[in-house]
Amino acid sequence: MPRYPYLLFDADNTLFDFDRADHYAFAAACEVSGLEYSEELLRRYWVHNDACWTMFDRGEATKDFICVERFRRFFAELGVDADPAAANRAHLETLSTCAFPTPYSVEVCETLSKTRRLFLITNAVASVQRGRLARAEIKPYLEAAFISEEAGAQKPTKAYFDYVFARIDGITKDNCLVIGDSLTSDIQGANNYGLACCWYNPKRAANPNGLRVDYEITDLRELYDIV
Ligand SMILES: [Mg+2]
Repeated sequence: MPRYPYLLFDADNTLFDFDRADHYAFAAACEVSGLEYSEELLRRYWVHNDACWTMFDRGEATKDFICVERFRRFFAELGVDADPAAANRAHLETLSTCAFPTPYSVEVCETLSKTRRLFLITNAVASVQRGRLARAEIKPYLEAAFISEEAGAQKPTKAYFDYVFARIDGITKDNCLVIGDSLTSDIQGANNYGLACCWYNPKRAANPNGLRVDYEITDLRELYDIV
């Protein structure tokens, strides 16, 4: 009997290479905004994007708000007169077509799906995540995807995990493992709900708030020895 027969995977920057997809999506946002794409601009946008998603993870703002707000702040910083809503639309449309896997995610999902049940737990815009999932190589290995927008709640809240647990027969707090890259959503969520968690931390970031991390990996293939 496997230790964790139920695996709850985060999507972005865990199974999907979101940062790579974001390059393309950001370039599309630049194009409709009259800006010339550059890595430097992308890095400046990421500062606002990260700050806005942290607000969302903390429950301080809605997703619709922060998606536009990140571009509003970015344009304000640049002193550019462009439409943040139009930029966001171009960004999301492009994002929904980009399903680049992270290293070894296809291989790991295929292997684990033979003996485990795999699910996606993701804070995301539903249209983007459904679009990406439909194109993803990992799709056949996932039993279901639980998208925050459809759940009406998000990681790390208890309500989100209540929604997920109500939809997976046989899952208990002791037989599942949460795997994700985000401390504020995945690891905090597992801490809140009392679930075992594995922090996928390929960039070897710090854990400043001392959250419980049961396993820490930098390569998804390390899961073979954990689950
Ligand atoms: Mg993530």
